[in-house]
Amino acid sequence: MKKIDTAKIEKNIYEILLALGADPECEGLKETPKRVAKMYEEVFEGMNYSNEEIAQKFDKTFSADLDVEGHTKDMVVVKDIDAFSYCEHHMALMYNMKIDVAYIPQDKVIGLSKIARIVDMVTKRLQLQERIGTDIADIIQMVTGSKDVAVIIRANHSCMTARGIKNVNSKTYTQTLRGKFETDAVLLNRIMY
Ligand SMILES: [Zn+2]
Repeated sequence: MKKIDTAKIEKNIYEILLALGADPECEGLKETPKRVAKMYEEVFEGMNYSNEEIAQKFDKTFSADLDVEGHTKDMVVVKDIDAFSYCEHHMALMYNMKIDVAYIPQDKVIGLSKIARIVDMVTKRLQLQERIGTDIADIIQMVTGSKDVAVIIRANHSCMTARGIKNVNSKTYTQTLRGKFETDAVLLNRIMY
């Protein structure tokens, strides 16, 4: 397991403050490098784990006999999971993030709160919105053994809303579709309400 080097972050934030022309020894900034390092340790917690390690961590499944004769197994949809993340291009905040995760269980069912925990770990990394989707889908597939997974994400990117073209209200929308969700438009429609 990698560990975030808070001492190194602290030292470098001090240098950034200097580079900004600020006085890192002044009252308001004295503790800032330490505070930023502590915050990074928390908001980047997921950097300590690979997708495989996150899958192992939350591998609490229940076997369930979900077969109803003549019917496709029912899907599980968790909608509007709140999250935030940081884009790897600018280290800028991605906010107002809502994530929907859907899967069709094979024979293993994952606890619903575990899905939210997986989302939390994946978003606490330097990320791209598309990769958040593929990381979550990979882990859900690893844990449940299901091939049919969909992850839909909407978020504001502060690198777009607060700088550059200042497109304040623009949201970025991504879909990661695997298995039946990729080919079955009716099925996909059912999670888009
Ligand atoms: Zn960015």
